[in-house]
Amino acid sequence: MRKLRLILGDQLNLQHSWFQHIDENTIYVLAEMRQETDYAKHNIQKVVGFFLSMRNFYTTIKKLGHQVTYFHINDTNNPQDLEKIIFLCIEKYKIEKFEYQLPDEYRLDEQLKSICSRLKIHCEVFDSEHFYTTRNELTDFFKGKKLLLMENFYRNMRKKHYVLMDDSAPLGNQWNFDADNRKKYKGEVPVPSEKNFHTDVSEVVSQIKKAGILTFGNVDLQNFSWPTSREQCLVVLEYFCKNLLKHFGDYEDAMHTDEKFLFHSRLSFAMNTKMLSPKEVIQCIIYHFHENETEISISQVEGFVRQILGWREYIRGIYWKEMPNYAKINVLNNTNKLPQFFWNGKTKMNCLSHAINQSLDDAYAHHIQRLMIIGNFTLLTQIHPDEVDAWYLGVYIDAIEWVEMPNTRGMSQYADGGIIATKPYVSSGSYINKMSNNCSKCYYNVKEKFGDKACPFNSLYWNFLDDKKEYFKGNQRMGMMLNLLHKMSPEELYKIKVKANEIINNMDSY
Ligand code: FAD
Ligand code: SF4
Repeated sequence: MRKLRLILGDQLNLQHSWFQHIDENTIYVLAEMRQETDYAKHNIQKVVGFFLSMRNFYTTIKKLGHQVTYFHINDTNNPQDLEKIIFLCIEKYKIEKFEYQLPDEYRLDEQLKSICSRLKIHCEVFDSEHFYTTRNELTDFFKGKKLLLMENFYRNMRKKHYVLMDDSAPLGNQWNFDADNRKKYKGEVPVPSEKNFHTDVSEVVSQIKKAGILTFGNVDLQNFSWPTSREQCLVVLEYFCKNLLKHFGDYEDAMHTDEKFLFHSRLSFAMNTKMLSPKEVIQCIIYHFHENETEISISQVEGFVRQILGWREYIRGIYWKEMPNYAKINVLNNTNKLPQFFWNGKTKMNCLSHAINQSLDDAYAHHIQRLMIIGNFTLLTQIHPDEVDAWYLGVYIDAIEWVEMPNTRGMSQYADGGIIATKPYVSSGSYINKMSNNCSKCYYNVKEKFGDKACPFNSLYWNFLDDKKEYFKGNQRMGMMLNLLHKMSPEELYKIKVKANEIINNMDSY
């Protein structure tokens, strides 16, 4: 029977059972298409990263002996639309059965179901064989529970998959070393430079330009740093284990103006495209830990495992539990627009300038920059979550909706009313000052609330609490901050609100 098998751009999983046997009656299809480049405006590096990784995957499976057809973005026979591509291949290759892997995005899941309902041949859907959990495992785990606490889910995952366990106890006798993961980075240990593949991407960039795809952000044509093949992804993984893991946990929450990546792994793109599986990443990390126990402490390793076995699987589960309503939710009724500096990086706020310029130049910012600098600012300035979501979905190389949206709309913008976060991640300048060296080099003064040089985060923070106090009044975790707000004199609060509204109405001049 002649089969057509679809491989989406984020399904580059060479270890999938599909690729373990060669069948000359099975034709695989990969397609660069406008449908995918245009549903959001992406950072140029994201488009480059996906196209190159897809092209490398095509070459690899072809070399293995599989039958593969590939649509390049400028091919004249490329219909640029998934449905048309599937119909075209079915006709051209006289296909009798269509197969695909479960997509991770709701949008594509719906589209493929709809295409299959109209095909006259048999269709079958396969698991992507990537995640630890199935789509609905989190929903089942939390059935009947009011709070969807990540920590409970994570402990269950540790037990179920016997990761960092010693019989029924957690290794090191502690489930969580979060409290040890909050060091400020002061240059006490040198940060090894990031693994950069220096790939020449001038050809693919000119193809993207020729196609007329609208992008933003910047790319160094001779020095594309991201891995775009499984071999390169494995190099990044090994580099992380050997050079960065030993300090990962300690500086997980730190920020530094001279160190864009600190001890972060930069493995999210490799995993989100499925060139690496979360299981092999975790196995590799644990192997390295056991080989080097005198050098690497359990707190570094647990901190890393928690991100992948805990947060990554949890976020995916929330996405499938809450979609499609999640994409529209805006419980705080925020309506403001993103300032222009999100697209050009021009702001005098040093913390934002670093985090945004890095996002535009590297298609990357680490978790705390995304959460406590950029997301903190957009929540305090009460930007519409649709605007925030669209920016995050476009700017990062690892941004795929299933992982981007719950992190942005939920964890960072509290637009879901606390499904993910028990309280909003907001802070004044003092947190940023505590966790980074940004403030010492800033135009603004982190200690001031009023005046031309006052740190904008300070008045914005109290203004946000005041604007949203009715919504948060029953939230115990907000009690202390709301008490402080209530103790503030009406005159001081008035001045704060005037200042904050001046900032919100003129964000681009700050
Ligand atoms: P490391 O710090 O080295 O962490 C290791 C791995 O853990 C990551 O590669 C990632 O796979 C996983 N991980 C860590 N935190 C999370 C998390 N909260 N959710 C899911 N996985 C996690 N991650 C994405 O992959 N794509 C996104 O679009 C994305 N958008 C985000 C938006 C916001 C507002 C926030 C606060 C976080 C977002 N994250 C996203 C999560 C996290 O910031 C990135 O996974 C991480 O910065 C990627 O860099 P890294 O590989 O160096 O991570
Ligand atoms: Fe950011 Fe305020 Fe610090 Fe400047 S002073 S870096 S704006 S927190």
